[in-house]
Amino acid sequence: RQSLERIRSRDGQLHAVLATDASRSLALAREADRRLREGERTPVLGLPVVLKDNLAWTGLPATCGSRMLEGHQAAYDATVVSRLLAAGAIPVAKANMDEFAMGSSGEYSAFGPTLNPWDPARVPGGSSSGPIVAVAAGYAPLALGSDTGGSVRLPASFCNVTALRPTYGVLSRYGLTAMASSLDQVGPVGTTAADVAAALQVMAGPDPRDSTSVDLPRTGALFPLQPADLKGKRIGLPVEYWGPGLAPEVREVLEAALDQLAALGADLVEVSLPHTRYAIDTYYLVCTSEVSSNLSRFDGVRYGYRAPDQGLDLADLISETRDRGFGPEAKRRILLGTFCLSRGWYEAFYLRALQARTLITRNFQEAFRSVDLLATPVSPVTAFPLGAKTGDPLSMYLADVFTVTTSLAAVPCLSVPAGFAGGLPVGLQLIAPALADVALLKAAHAFQ
Ligand code: GLN
Repeated sequence: RQSLERIRSRDGQLHAVLATDASRSLALAREADRRLREGERTPVLGLPVVLKDNLAWTGLPATCGSRMLEGHQAAYDATVVSRLLAAGAIPVAKANMDEFAMGSSGEYSAFGPTLNPWDPARVPGGSSSGPIVAVAAGYAPLALGSDTGGSVRLPASFCNVTALRPTYGVLSRYGLTAMASSLDQVGPVGTTAADVAAALQVMAGPDPRDSTSVDLPRTGALFPLQPADLKGKRIGLPVEYWGPGLAPEVREVLEAALDQLAALGADLVEVSLPHTRYAIDTYYLVCTSEVSSNLSRFDGVRYGYRAPDQGLDLADLISETRDRGFGPEAKRRILLGTFCLSRGWYEAFYLRALQARTLITRNFQEAFRSVDLLATPVSPVTAFPLGAKTGDPLSMYLADVFTVTTSLAAVPCLSVPAGFAGGLPVGLQLIAPALADVALLKAAHAFQ
């Protein structure tokens, strides 16, 4: 009830929520209450949780922030949602997002932008703007976003919450509407690493409905989460991330965070990930190529929106629907991706991007031969003003400069609050080798 009340009182301003079903959430709360009274315990029993609108929860709208899916209702539960429900968590809202998870600011939703609770004249970051703001503004202690190239980490950094991008495969993508399938991961969000770990424990693990899902070693150590002993742990600082592009006030906060890690006994060492400079190009080639393929299913026939069809033949109905249903960023990516994959250009763009992806992945594998973790900024700047980047798609893409590499390399990473610069939150990114998600969360817990 408190959760729903908080949404009612604050969301008129912040616009983090797209839909609620109060009677259903309250019924789930009564059920959780009964289980608690009977002595049952799980890491999330009775906890309200907010779901990004690209995750399926049966019967609720699943718009993905797009007119294209206006009126579409999920016909089944995503695996992460059914596992949360089985453990007694209580979904309370579907949350706003950049259209089809494309964007870095939360301004590309067809239903209007989400605002930053720390300064409503600024963006909360995206694309998981709604889930992040739901936790930052106290609607719920937990939320689920998705992270393709930084979509939980960037907004977590802008809004002072903790968000994890697990190793690719640790969380099932069944019921997560695909943007770029080789990069998409569900990302749990909470105020602390310990809360995120609790949610991860009940959701992690193989799913016969997602052939890329994998088993996460040491899942049992996620709850209750113990802090890592950082004494003698080697933390690498990749020179490519700590260069002159970083705003001085952000650098100051992050250097204090590094001092704190050193005070906990960690050895900070310089490392290099030399192919970092190709990351943005590589990410946007792989991402748009997969987008152009995945979004071809939205044709006005199978889901959601359909253009008024008087007198149109099938091909015209499809193109009219897509013209009216998709926003400008979705169209831009469909066009770019279709071009990248077309005969004659495939070798020059898509294939080269896959090769660069391999080199970027190898950089991480090499770095992790000599260090246990990496520490980097999440973003070179704090939350920027609304409208600052919407006129220039390239500058929006560059907001992801520190987050897309780990997505390409499929390694786990998280954004953890590190302090404030000019009254705005700054996040620190910690990165671990593939499948070391538990060690990553334990390190973040020690830092917090
Ligand atoms: N901002 C990046 C993009 O637009 C990342 C989005 C995401 O992680 N979903 O692709």
